[in-house]
Amino acid sequence: MPADSLPTAVMTFSLNPFRRPRWRTLVLLALLLASLLWPIEHLATRYYRERVAEQSAQTLELYVANLRGTLRRYEALPHIMGDLPALRGALRAAEDADSVNAANQLLERVRRQSGADVIYLMNPAGLTLAASNWSEYDAFVGRNFAFRPYFREALAGRPAQFFGLGTTSGKRGYYFATAVRDGHEVLGVLVVKVDLDHTETLLGSTPEQLLVTDAQGVVILTSRPEWRFRATRELSGAERAEIAANLPYPTQQPQPLALSDQDWLRQSQLLAETGWTASILAPRSLVERPVQSVMAIAAATLLAILLLLAVLLQRRRHLLERLALDARARQELEQRVAERTEDLVALTERLKREVLEREQAQQELVRAQDEVVQAGKLSALGTMSASISHELNQPLAAIRSYADNAGVLLDHGRVDDARGNLRLISELTARMASIISHLKAFARRDRKAPESVALQPALDDALALLASQRRALQVELLRDLPEATLWVQAGETRLRQVLGNLLANAFDALSEKAPPRRLWISAQPLADGRISLSLRDNGPGFTAEALARAREPFFTTKTTARGLGLGLAICDTLTHALGGELLLANHPQGGALVTLNLLPAATGIGTQSPEDCP
Ligand code: ADP
Repeated sequence: MPADSLPTAVMTFSLNPFRRPRWRTLVLLALLLASLLWPIEHLATRYYRERVAEQSAQTLELYVANLRGTLRRYEALPHIMGDLPALRGALRAAEDADSVNAANQLLERVRRQSGADVIYLMNPAGLTLAASNWSEYDAFVGRNFAFRPYFREALAGRPAQFFGLGTTSGKRGYYFATAVRDGHEVLGVLVVKVDLDHTETLLGSTPEQLLVTDAQGVVILTSRPEWRFRATRELSGAERAEIAANLPYPTQQPQPLALSDQDWLRQSQLLAETGWTASILAPRSLVERPVQSVMAIAAATLLAILLLLAVLLQRRRHLLERLALDARARQELEQRVAERTEDLVALTERLKREVLEREQAQQELVRAQDEVVQAGKLSALGTMSASISHELNQPLAAIRSYADNAGVLLDHGRVDDARGNLRLISELTARMASIISHLKAFARRDRKAPESVALQPALDDALALLASQRRALQVELLRDLPEATLWVQAGETRLRQVLGNLLANAFDALSEKAPPRRLWISAQPLADGRISLSLRDNGPGFTAEALARAREPFFTTKTTARGLGLGLAICDTLTHALGGELLLANHPQGGALVTLNLLPAATGIGTQSPEDCP
């Protein structure tokens, strides 16, 4: 069905599936489909009426042909018989019993052979002289039928026909009458009465009814006895008078018969020779019944179509509803996603801002810390300056006196002694250079923030640098380090510098005792997350003074050739700068125990950093 021919209801329904209730659409569809029943009924009625009319016409045709055949068979009979000498003889010698008897015999024989009802012979006065039923109790013989119109007609020389009810027999009959002549002389009238009772039925038992009316419109033959001798139209006065005179019916005043066209379908044919009209009346039910069947089938079919349409509409409606719901859900989801995305974007922006602020704050903090450390170092330098000047003045004074002495020695030609003085000067400048290079560590500003440094590799590096000294001292190394790399916040070089100083101190201490010399190195994470590295030796341990002052710059218990007293001071400062701590103690079983606690770091890449370049 093209879209533009859809009913309005359906179109509207498809455009607006949620507002229009379903029942309304169905009612509209029902009205639409029911309106189709009207033309179907019209067509079916026309079709069946035509069929019934056709059938009735055929039946009527047959009936009329049959009736005509019956009448024609007897029409010529009076003429032929009128020439028979026996009949003339009887008319001429009415008192001669033999002649009359011969006529009776003849009439009876002819009646039997022709199948007529009665044949009788009347003299010109209308008295019946001979009759085929002469021997029966209701014989016509001796009766006068002069009043019958057919008698008068025949006597006047015209062949006559008449329908009427027999006055003697009470039976309906059709009368053919003709004059019996001898030359021009009319001797009498011969009448053949035909029984029409058997023509009152149609062939077979059909629902159609037969109706034959005479010229007056009175029913003379019919398949419905109650219609017999009733007038199908208004009778005129002349007709009534004629009926009263001729007595063709059992009544002189036929009752009207009203046959409604509502009840009957009528097919009529005029029999011109008798003035009769033969009709076949088919009851309307012959049309109505099949039409009703057709309508029932059509209604059932339309109902099925309606139901099918309803189901389709419902399915379509459900589909539309589901699609709309899906679309709405999708829209809501998209909206929610959009809102969430907007929130996330805002959040990301805020986080970025916060991260930036935090980074700035961190940088500020690092800078402040840096500055504090720097300030600490400077103050340390300040406090150290006295010892530094003392430390440097000493060799400087010595250098000056060695140089002065060298000049005096050269003046005296003591070249070897002068060379000895120069060597001592060289050694003293080397010592001064060493002091200065160590002091640089205090003044240097760290360029980089602490980073992730693997502890074990840094320890291995520091040990490798001191490997020859360890071998010389035959130090037994007892390591207790976890397999997994421990990551600490530090600088690669700074950490190695600290570890190197601590190991060097341990080897120095071990060199002061006899073997066995042992060094325990262990590391583990602390409960607070920091990484703790312990170095324990079985040397003499810290002296009480050393425990108290070891962190001070230039504090040393070693000879001037071996110790500058800066190692632990530098280690302590660097460790603090990294957020860690350096603990000095003596082990209960003897020997020094130095513990380095550092902040843990995320797993790093473990490459060597170029930081801390002097
Ligand atoms: P230096 O090593 O030049 O003496 P340090 O600052 O490194 O300077 O050490 C200061 C002092 O701490 C040392 O002179 C020593 O008395 C003491 N000390 C350091 N490490 C040990 C150790 N492992 N065992 C005993 N004493 C130590």
